[in-house]
Amino acid sequence: MVNVSPDAKRTINRRNFLIGAATLSAGNVLATYDRILSGLLGTEYTHCIDEAKEYILARHGIEIPKPASIGTLPKGLSVTEPNKYELSRGLGLVMEELIKYPPLFLRQNGIKKIIFFSSIWSDEERLMGFASVSEECIAMCYNAEFFEHRREEYRRALHHELYHRFERFHNSVESENGIWKDFHSQDGYPQYQIYMPEENELPDNYFSYFSSKYGSTEPIEDRAGFAEQMMVSELYIKLLDRIQSEGDRQILKILLQKYEAMLGYYREWSGGLMDLSFWEDLKNDRITEGYFN
Ligand SMILES: [Zn+2]
Repeated sequence: MVNVSPDAKRTINRRNFLIGAATLSAGNVLATYDRILSGLLGTEYTHCIDEAKEYILARHGIEIPKPASIGTLPKGLSVTEPNKYELSRGLGLVMEELIKYPPLFLRQNGIKKIIFFSSIWSDEERLMGFASVSEECIAMCYNAEFFEHRREEYRRALHHELYHRFERFHNSVESENGIWKDFHSQDGYPQYQIYMPEENELPDNYFSYFSSKYGSTEPIEDRAGFAEQMMVSELYIKLLDRIQSEGDRQILKILLQKYEAMLGYYREWSGGLMDLSFWEDLKNDRITEGYFN
């Protein structure tokens, strides 16, 4: 569904040069990051858009192609293109979030493109983004409404969609689904249900077994729900509080199994760099552009 446009090919040629330039000096990269980021958030943001795209490509190996390059959309999806204001703000948030992954992580875990839209609709439902099943690509929706009111939601949606790509890349979806369903295999535990019963028919603590209400629909969404909560420090603190204060031993056991599994995936996919000290630093908002240097 995602084709490589002539524009994207031109950008790839430029990448060779930029990777060379970006590796010259870590201090130089850091100055570039700060300068582009403040430019994107300033009044002269239109001048910084191409530079931000080049930076993301050089630093993370991810292209930001034009929306039209997505080609044929999956059935039932419709999109609108972002204007330059929306794109500049969206790029700024993406730059801030991508530095949380070790420098080679994104290159090695199945993500090569992020396509920006200002809205994405699936029939009547508005989406924050989606991850391609077969291509190394995600789409993100970003518009002025998110910039004013829903920045955290946007950050979490980005990590959610990236997580879907990592799993697809490692071809681990089916095997992990089996393991996560087994966490719920004991009698009386709630099961994943794509079509949930009416909420008033569910026991009070039904959703406590899962990362979120949406996470209770299927294991892949449960895992992506943990991913989005772990990668944003304020949400991560809330998640840890929730686990630590869980008074029901059965629920606690399941949450811990899931949390440990998530730590294991990130540790493995990062070659050990996303270890316990990394998570402690992320929780305390200490991951900066130069963190992994
Ligand atoms: Zn999802």
